[in-house]
This record gives sequence, C-alpha cells and structure tokens, in this order.
Amino acid sequence: MNLMKLYNRVPIFMQNIFTTAQGYLYKKERFGKVYYATLEELRARNYGDLQELREYQDALFTELVRHAAENSPFYREFYKNIDLSQVRTVADIEKLPRLPKETVRRNLPQMYTVAPESAIKSETGGTTGTAMRFYYTKRDRQRRMAYLDFFKMRHGFVPMKMRRASFNSSRIVPATQKAKVFWRTNRAIKQRIYSAFHVKNNNLRYYVENLNKFKPHSIDGYPSAIFEVANYILENNICLDFKPVAIFPTAETLLPHYREAMEKAFGCPVRDQYASSEGAPFIVECTAGRLHYCMDNGVIEFNADGQMLVSCFDTHATPLIRYEIGDKAFLAEEQSCACGCKMPVVDHIEGRVIDYVLTRSRGRFPAVFLSCKGVPGVRYAQFVQDRVDALLVKLVATEGSNHAETEKAIRKKFQYFLGEDMDIQVRFVEDVEKEPSGKFRYIINNVK
Ligand SMILES: [Zn+2]
Repeated sequence: MNLMKLYNRVPIFMQNIFTTAQGYLYKKERFGKVYYATLEELRARNYGDLQELREYQDALFTELVRHAAENSPFYREFYKNIDLSQVRTVADIEKLPRLPKETVRRNLPQMYTVAPESAIKSETGGTTGTAMRFYYTKRDRQRRMAYLDFFKMRHGFVPMKMRRASFNSSRIVPATQKAKVFWRTNRAIKQRIYSAFHVKNNNLRYYVENLNKFKPHSIDGYPSAIFEVANYILENNICLDFKPVAIFPTAETLLPHYREAMEKAFGCPVRDQYASSEGAPFIVECTAGRLHYCMDNGVIEFNADGQMLVSCFDTHATPLIRYEIGDKAFLAEEQSCACGCKMPVVDHIEGRVIDYVLTRSRGRFPAVFLSCKGVPGVRYAQFVQDRVDALLVKLVATEGSNHAETEKAIRKKFQYFLGEDMDIQVRFVEDVEKEPSGKFRYIINNVK
C-alpha cells in the first residue's frame, strides 16, 4: 500500500501526525545550513548601494554562465560559437543567444547538470501546454526558500516561530471524508494547511471558525481561495479574533479586487511576489508597496512589449539564461522608492498569455481589466473564450439578486471595453470550476 492510500484510511488525528512527519522531512531538505547562511547574507546586504548590487550580480551571472557551459550538454552545444571569455558582466548578456521556451521543451533532459536522483524536482503546470520538469540542487532550493522567507520577514513574519495558514492544493482531505475538517497541521513549521479545493459555499463558515481558533500570523497560498474566505467574512460582517501581519499570495495572479477584499476582511496588508516553478528571479513587494526585481537573485531583461527574459542564479541544476519565460512585467517610470532599496522598481506584472481575453478590434485584455467591481449581484465570475469574437461570462450570483439586471450591467461594461464585435454570452452557474491542481483561473482562454 502506498503512503497516500494509507493516509486516506487513517483517522484525522493520525493524518495530522503524517502531515507533521512529512513536514519534518521537508524542513530538513529546505531549511538547512544553506538556508540560514543565505538569510544572514540577505540581512547583511546593503540594498541602498546600487554599485555593490551590480558587482554582486556580475559575479553570480558569470559564474552561472560558466557553470552551464561546463556542466550542461545542451549549453555546451548552444554556446559553442561564442567566446565566453568576452562575457564578463551583465552588460555583455546580449552576446548570448535568447532561450525560447520551445527550445527548453525540446532539450530539457540535455540541459540538466545533475543526476535527477540527487536533485529536487519541480514541475510547471500543464495548463500552458505540457508540463515540464525542472530540477533544483539542494543548495539552490534552500537559497530560494531563504529569499522567500526574507521577503516575508521584511513584512514582520518570522518563519517557523509564527503561525502560518496556507491555502494550497495539497490533497489533505480524502474524497470519502464526511467531517467538515478541511485542514491539517504541520507542526514542524507551525503551519496549518487549508485545502483550496474545498473553499466554497457551505464549507466557508468552517474555514472561518477554524482560522479564528488557529489565529495565524500570516496567510499564504492561492489568492482566489483566500479571496473567497475574505468575501464570506465581509458579507457576513464577521469579526475576526486575530489580525495577521500580512497575506502573501502565491501561484496565481493577484487581481486588484482580491487584494481589496483581503485587506478589508483581515485588516492587514497583502504583499505580492512573483517567482516561478522553473526558476525566475524573485520580484517582491516592499514595505512601501512597490515591486522590486531582486537583482541579487538573477537578471531580468525587460522588453518593450513587457516580455521578460530571465536568468536565475538558483538554477544550477537546470540553468536558465536569457529564458523567454512567457510572463510580462513593466519597469516603473519612477525608479526611486521610499523604502530605500535601489533594486529596479517594476510597475506591474502580467500573467501568461493564457490570462488574456483576445479581441478582434481592441487587442488583448489581461485579467486586471476584467474586474466585475461595481456590477451588482456578482459573487464570482469566470471568463471563458473559445473564439476570438465570442466570450462566455460565467457568473455565480449573490443570493436574491436580479439576474436580468446583473446581465445587463455586465454587457454594458464589457461591450464597451471589448468592442461591439465581441459576442458576449452571460451564463449563471452554481459554481465556477477549478483546475485539477486546485488553481482557479479567472480567464480560460482556449483560442489557439
Ligand atoms: Zn521599495
């Protein structure tokens, strides 16, 4: 019998012990010596000194390029006509070829520099094509954990000392479970995991009751799930018995109306960050509420159309250099920030192309422009596009609302945006669908 089958058959208190035991294994892997040493390094760094940051970036960049050329069969071939002795600083980056996603997809096994058994696996979601498998060395994995935790520490959260509620896709609730217990506790790092799959309708009150008992110092995970809980708290005027130091969304695009509802319901700031499972330099929100790209964690080249080329210093097992990651970000016009950090300020990040609605006459609309804010009677919305000239808007209505009125308001708002040549269909549904991974997609774009 495998472990998952065994887990599903034991009582909930045993499942908590399993979760904690698993937590200790992860803790050893992720929070070891390198993790603590990296935290020290990050604490000591002078983020106000651009020259020092640049020198550090140059050193790590050339080290990564050399490492890739020496240890990865793919890069040996890819760089064979390039004089690498001429690549001395980040300013020389354009001497190296770009790395398209398709090239990575085709050559992935030749890119690895380590034996898969000795490395840590990370897979990209299958929603943007077939899943791709990347590896991390144990060292790089711990360094990434340190970057993430250092970001949280700057907002007042102390990892492993403070309680953390995580809304994620761990399959902690067996399909046959009858009890309304949608969480398990990982005592190894003071974390309670809340199933993102079950955050809906009649279950919401159990989540809120339990959060009130657990009193987390931070909440992290899928913003769509945390948003639903926030909405429930606001709709029912629930007074919480705790106030987290911050909420840290992961994995999905943080939409403006998510942020607003979460900050109001939990009475604390939402602090966003961007990273990706294949390995991209972190982009993190600072205490002044702006996004900085961590130039001590990699190089991001910002193209005029927003497409990022990423080179990440924690990708020694599967080196990524000038990788066309498929996400967009734009540098801010105003580069100075009140927080004192001199790392470049990013205006905003846009998700993958799949997070757009396409129009014939008006171009692309990312999710942030498709908020249903101000439309009466909308509880949740989801946009599904199968053709460039048609859009299906699925709506979960609030109780007792007037469907006809809601539909009219939706049409009025979006017809204006998306153009008269867009055929907008509105459908009221009981529930919006989630993906097998538990992620919620605000826009499902099937236009090829
Ligand atoms: Zn700042």
